Amino acid sequence: MTDYAAPLDEIRFALRHAAGFDELIKLPGFEEATPDIVDHILNEAGKFAAEVVGPLNRTGDTEGSRLENGVVRTPAGFKQAYGQFVAGVWNSVALPPDHGGQGLPFTLNAAVTEMWDAASTAWALCPMLTVGAIEAISAHGTEEQKRLYLPKLVTGEWTGTMNLTEPQAGSDVGALRSRAVREGDKFRVFGQKIFITYGDQDYTDNVVHLVLARIEGAPQGVKGISLFLVPKVLVNADGSLGQRNDLRPVSLEHKLGIHASPTCVMAYGENEGALGTLIGRENDGMACMFTMMNNARFNVGMLGLATAERAWQQARAFAKERVQGRDIATGENNVAIIRHPDVRRMLLSMKSSTEAMRALAYYLASRLDHARRNPDPAVRKSAQATVDLLTPVMKAWCTDTGCEVAHIGVQVHGGMGFIEETGAAQHMRDARIHPIYEGTNGIQANDLMGRKVQRDGGEAAKALIAEMRPAAKALAGAGDADLRAIAVKLGEGLDCLAKATDWIVDAGKHDIARSAASAVPYLALFGNVTAGWLLGRAALAAKSANGAGANGAADGLDPRFAAAKIKTARFFADHVVVRSSGLLATITDGADSVVALAEADF
Ligand SMILES: Cc1cc2nc3c(=O)[nH]c(=O)nc-3n(C[C@H](O)[C@H](O)[C@H](O)COP(=O)(O)OP(=O)(O)OC[C@H]3O[C@@H](n4cnc5c(N)ncnc54)[C@H](O)[C@@H]3O)c2cc1C
Repeated sequence: MTDYAAPLDEIRFALRHAAGFDELIKLPGFEEATPDIVDHILNEAGKFAAEVVGPLNRTGDTEGSRLENGVVRTPAGFKQAYGQFVAGVWNSVALPPDHGGQGLPFTLNAAVTEMWDAASTAWALCPMLTVGAIEAISAHGTEEQKRLYLPKLVTGEWTGTMNLTEPQAGSDVGALRSRAVREGDKFRVFGQKIFITYGDQDYTDNVVHLVLARIEGAPQGVKGISLFLVPKVLVNADGSLGQRNDLRPVSLEHKLGIHASPTCVMAYGENEGALGTLIGRENDGMACMFTMMNNARFNVGMLGLATAERAWQQARAFAKERVQGRDIATGENNVAIIRHPDVRRMLLSMKSSTEAMRALAYYLASRLDHARRNPDPAVRKSAQATVDLLTPVMKAWCTDTGCEVAHIGVQVHGGMGFIEETGAAQHMRDARIHPIYEGTNGIQANDLMGRKVQRDGGEAAKALIAEMRPAAKALAGAGDADLRAIAVKLGEGLDCLAKATDWIVDAGKHDIARSAASAVPYLALFGNVTAGWLLGRAALAAKSANGAGANGAADGLDPRFAAAKIKTARFFADHVVVRSSGLLATITDGADSVVALAEADF
């Protein structure tokens, strides 16, 4: 099994060219993010991920988490690595300074998070959920909740969870039955939650659960749901720990992947009721939880990218070592399998998709920083519109593509890919959960279609398409055959996306079932074209760095690296963006058959 190595050159390139990081760190509030500090943070994060977290990936998978006498035990080394994570103040990189955060760009945090996500997905899930809980409490919590909980969550001394799912309430959160009974200014929470990631762990002395429940007498459905902060151990007014609360992990799920991540069935209120406090207003729980879920959707998309990076590193190393057969072009015998065109195709598919996901992730992260910090209100507004539009795309496209990459990684290994010791299979198993949790990818596609495109008549989508058009023009005029070829595919892709957007908006007005039947291919088209645009921009940057000597030197780009960027973008245009016309036909013509077949005929 190949060890994880942080791809720092790729990360730096994507920060600069996909996220516009050099400009981004000039935004007010980012004064601390000097180039030297950023460089230091990236290097240290790379070391921590590769040396501390990475080695736990395989052992964590084979050992798994266990429930012993009502207490979760994580695999050997997990707790120590978490301790080092807290000591290294890695949890607080992009959190606001009011409660101890470092206030650095969200985009920088995305880059460092990618590294531990790749080093061990199962390990990285715990801090991921904590950050989501912090965002929800910061946005909607009372001053008292912020005072008591945020400082410890920000350092990572306590961890956070999100509790939506119940056996009968998965995608349909409104069907939940957990209930809350008022007791003075607090509530007693009763109910069972399932599939709760890191619902308990042996890292810290407290866990802060964010739990959705219905206050007695509240309306049915999502309109009657409230959000509660329910700690594992009650916290006294002076911040010290009090009594154990009435909640416990009942069992752990046996899963296809992420074995080290404890997925808990949680029981709240088996006795007197779990004591909690309301976050936000009564019956406004879904809106509050959405703050956490939007953060988690971005971060689950990151997991898709990260798992792909890990699978790609492993497949690349294997393909250079494994000797098999004859080079079809030169006739040379006993060559490494990387010499076979089909293996090269698979590897380029993995490489280009991984770079495309990184570009999309960092671009979106940079929009979020602009939405929060740009002094120009018009820029803030348009950046937020892009964030809203692309969050479901990031979650679903990156996790579907991450699975595809991990799947190809197994194929590159041949029979050894099917053998667990190689490690390629673990990436595929671990990646498989990402399209499912945090709102399945079908739900993300519905969100893109309905709330993000139909609701504003396609305005945000069309604004993004307009933002993408100039790159196609620049590629066409760059005087390079590869760039011209990318321009053609990107131009066609943009035309298809524009037509598909019109169709989705129109279908939304009179045939919502048909438009829902096309939501997933529409999201795939959106992701492919946006990623193709970002790789096209990367190719343009690589070309100018390569072509003009002075510019190349200033950019510090190795000419080989720059040339590879252009070839990789060309591959992505020819193999992925080119699917646009097929996807458009599926979107506009394919819905009929989906809705036509009678239920009894399935
Ligand atoms: C390992 C793991 C960790 C998890 N961690 C957490 C956690 O920490 N906290 C938490 O609260 N939950 C967690 N979950 C739960 C997870 O978010 C849900 O499993 C997920 O939202 C899907 O719900 P479901 O399993 O009930 O599937 P269902 O909702 O039953 O969906 C089944 C299928 O129907 C489709 N479907 C359902 N409704 C619609 C619709 N309206 N339109 C189109 N398609 C639809 C789905 O896309 C899916 O393909 C976790 C789950 C797992 C497996």
